Amino acid sequence: MDLRRALNHVLDNHRKWVEQFGDLPDHPSLHVSEAQLEAALDTLSARLTNNYPFFHPRYAGQMLKPPHPAAIAGYVAAMLINPNNHALDGGPATAKMEREVVKQLATMFGYGEHLGHLTSSGTIANLEALYVARELHPGKGVAFSVDSHYTHGRMCGVLGIEGTKVKVDSAGRMDLDDLRKVLATGKIGTVVVTAGTTGLGAIDPVHEILPIAREYGTRVHVDAAYGGFFILVDDLDPRPWQAIKDCDSIVVDPHKHGLQPYGCGAVLFRDPGVGRFYAHDSPYTYFTSDDLHLGEISLECSRSGASAAALWLTFQLIPPTVDGLGAVLAAGRRAAVRWADTIDASAELTLYQRPELDIVSYFGTAGTMSEIDATSQRVLHAGMSAEVEPVFLSVLSVGREDFTRRHPAVGADADRARVLRSVLMKPESELYLDTLHGRVIDLVASPNG
Ligand SMILES: *Cc1c(COP(=O)(O)O)cnc(C)c1O
Repeated sequence: MDLRRALNHVLDNHRKWVEQFGDLPDHPSLHVSEAQLEAALDTLSARLTNNYPFFHPRYAGQMLKPPHPAAIAGYVAAMLINPNNHALDGGPATAKMEREVVKQLATMFGYGEHLGHLTSSGTIANLEALYVARELHPGKGVAFSVDSHYTHGRMCGVLGIEGTKVKVDSAGRMDLDDLRKVLATGKIGTVVVTAGTTGLGAIDPVHEILPIAREYGTRVHVDAAYGGFFILVDDLDPRPWQAIKDCDSIVVDPHKHGLQPYGCGAVLFRDPGVGRFYAHDSPYTYFTSDDLHLGEISLECSRSGASAAALWLTFQLIPPTVDGLGAVLAAGRRAAVRWADTIDASAELTLYQRPELDIVSYFGTAGTMSEIDATSQRVLHAGMSAEVEPVFLSVLSVGREDFTRRHPAVGADADRARVLRSVLMKPESELYLDTLHGRVIDLVASPNG
């Protein structure tokens, strides 16, 4: 897809719409000179080169990649108008698109009736889910695993509810025995399960947690901010994914695995009745229609309508189906599995644990945690500062106990060790794996990178 051509198309269509409203008075206060603009743009571009090449498979670090060109074209098309999805007064077209994409997301997870909306981020989406959790079980707490995203602990603080951490097993999944112990206290109203942890991509056993939670009268919220779209990949164990539809709320981030620019999270509730907790009146908005405005079912006020347009256009072209977006995620997952096998077969590298999704964790083979930590840090820096063939990895800090459970033969001479971590979220990673592996082996083997 040619982005320049798509953007020209967008600009032409926009001009046609604008022209219907007649001549536009031209105000001098907004004038900028072409020459100044071009100079400032060059300065901007120069400053933006101080970035890592997230677009290239040689960047195999954090959860970062550029949006799909369709998302960019959709975003720009709507941004030229700048609708605000807070209220229908602010942009009826993109509010309708938001409802459509939210319905597609709900359908993807198997929700029928639902209440949901886009948010600015997974953090806000989770905040809303925990807010509803508090309203439904006042005085009760929320449980989440030690490997869940740190946002849950923080947002419990913001909401004034008690957060309880549940242990994880040796694969980084919520430990069911410990969960039972925590639930037996009677203090928990909602359990947060993570479908794809941020560190290792571990999937909590939703299908096993759900019946336990129900036994104790506890709600279940699924934080699928990172992993949610993997429901579209069909070679994964289907059981946790199929159980999601019976959970009470779901968070998924289209700005992580949905090909979108930042500013696009989503929260879904299985019971549309929770809309009552959002009830409020506004003296400014909600005048153009008696339909429920999106602002009436969300905690955020102003929110980009362009985000909804971007996701809508993307889903028109790459729908959230196994053959659509699923094929994008499946490629990253294949890359992760193949790399894990290659690492397993190599003397220089050791797998920290097998990837469940597309996140590979590994380290330079060594006898002690402190040596492993030093090598990870050295490889991270040598890789990104290499003048030829740089590679960009990330590190994950793991505690002694977690490390030892996976690698009992390694000397536990430190409290923590950094291991290397590569999120292979671009389908191109699949085609670049041999080069990437070769570079990482070189870096581990040569003390000077
Ligand atoms: C990224 C992430 C979040 C936070 O979402 P943001 O969009 O970064 O605010 C929450 N939970 C999980 C599991 C995540 O991976």
